[in-house]
Amino acid sequence: MDIQKASLKIGDYQICPVPTGQFGLDGGAMFGTVPKVLWEQSNPPDEKNRIPMEARALLLKGSKHKILIDTGNGSDFVAKYGDKVGGKFSEIYAVDQNGPSLLKSLAGHGVKPEDVTHVILTHLHFDHAGGATTEKNGEIVATFPKAKYYVQRANFETATKPNIREKASYLAPNFEPLMKAGVLELLDGDKADLLPGVSVQVSNGHTRGQQVVKVSDGTNTLLYCGDVIPTSSHVRLPWVMGYDLEPLRLIEEKATFLEPASSENWYLYFEHDPYCDAATVEKKGPDFKVKDRFHL
Ligand SMILES: [Zn+2]
Repeated sequence: MDIQKASLKIGDYQICPVPTGQFGLDGGAMFGTVPKVLWEQSNPPDEKNRIPMEARALLLKGSKHKILIDTGNGSDFVAKYGDKVGGKFSEIYAVDQNGPSLLKSLAGHGVKPEDVTHVILTHLHFDHAGGATTEKNGEIVATFPKAKYYVQRANFETATKPNIREKASYLAPNFEPLMKAGVLELLDGDKADLLPGVSVQVSNGHTRGQQVVKVSDGTNTLLYCGDVIPTSSHVRLPWVMGYDLEPLRLIEEKATFLEPASSENWYLYFEHDPYCDAATVEKKGPDFKVKDRFHL
């Protein structure tokens, strides 16, 4: 696989990938109805049928704002879940505790937890919000003490009263302490200028009230795809996850992002791709395909 190296600055923001550690998810669940003989070529599974996944957050490092998008599994602090989930959790999801972590990767970009000004959470599934909180003196508190956190109200409500299918993915220690501390702002729908050059757009096919994040200066545009397009393999329209609540709706939403992404040459940033950070895409008949892959 050919992956190009690119250094990207959009407006005032240096685009800084923040790998938070790999984990594994069932390959069948990641590709829904796509047969294994197809997906195992691009995403070979381990002996338990898990494919490697990155939990890749993103830092927008500006002169004034240090904006973090998603926070990974919280592999630094899996212990905060307690005996009920802690040990088992790491085992089921093969959470790598020895590689990069949220705080180590941020430190690599010269950013300390107290430097982060904003945290945008695409949604509250544990592999996105796990690093939002941490344990301190026996209490669970915000990992970024000076940051304002954002999530969609619809997603927060889903997370606090999860349906039976998603229950295992919404873990209260990841978000309830933020609400209690008054640092979590709930958004109602799309927001064009959440922060300078940064907008959010709602998608409901994967879970209720997920938000993808667009960073643009008019010349370069990057879309943080969250679980709408989790890896570069998911650029193709029918390749959607078994986890998605409404696959057909997700496919429609995916197309509304891929259309402008292909015509305007956006960088699509993949949260879960184990091999590349981002890619550009092009149209291929009624579908889309990857044009170039990048390490940012
Ligand atoms: Zn998710």
